[in-house]
Amino acid sequence: MSSELYSDKIRIVYHPDYQNHYTTASCETPTRVTSIMKYLDNRFPVIQPDECADEDILLCHSDGLLTIEKQLPDRYHVARLAVGGAITAAQLALDGFTSFAVIRPPGHHANPDHNWGFCFFNNMAIAIMKLLTAGAIHSATILDIDLHFGDGTDTIFKSHDNIHVLNIQSSNPDDFLKSTESSLNSIGHSDIIAISAGFDQYEKDWGANLTIDDYRKIGVFAGEFAQNRCNGKIFTILEGGYYIPDLGNNVESLLMGIMQGLS
Ligand SMILES: [Zn+2]
Repeated sequence: MSSELYSDKIRIVYHPDYQNHYTTASCETPTRVTSIMKYLDNRFPVIQPDECADEDILLCHSDGLLTIEKQLPDRYHVARLAVGGAITAAQLALDGFTSFAVIRPPGHHANPDHNWGFCFFNNMAIAIMKLLTAGAIHSATILDIDLHFGDGTDTIFKSHDNIHVLNIQSSNPDDFLKSTESSLNSIGHSDIIAISAGFDQYEKDWGANLTIDDYRKIGVFAGEFAQNRCNGKIFTILEGGYYIPDLGNNVESLLMGIMQGLS
């Protein structure tokens, strides 16, 4: 399948400052995003996001957490840009594009008042909450395919009946795919579907589980769900994924699957 066919429909969200070094675990390195961008090689238009505002962060996080994160300005800047990237990807989806935010730091372990797992603010939760509070959407489905349970996103939306947070957890590839499909099938209409795309379930990554083609299959399920139940509204943001040589390949595979599912 030629990815160039989709250059008018796909938008990549990226900011050069995602390459900045900041205080975090050594495996959460800038080469995660630079390797993806190099692989995609400008085949799709790239949109540069702005930093989010404090008010955006406070949609999902406490004043206390915000104050703590402000104490490390270099990291705070990139963390705000990551939230801004997720917000931009969400808006692009509403505008009719299939968007992928190649962002770091990841966000799904960021809870209202504490964070861990290389996450500082919950990029996905803030993007969805911003659309909700603006009245742009009333419901959403969040599909989290990272190796690790997205506890932050799950906690933030626990009391929101119209926001379905699906954490797919299986160490068997067939079960993982079946679980993705059946979880999506259990949901009716949503105004948008958003994928928290961690690639650490990849067979050469920590999870030692999914193949590159499995990411395409997951993309097909999500794309079909978007087409049939979300009026085609779908965006994806990067969460984990630490096997650098194949990160770009996996991103492309997921994206091409989404486009296949949408068509
Ligand atoms: Zn992870």
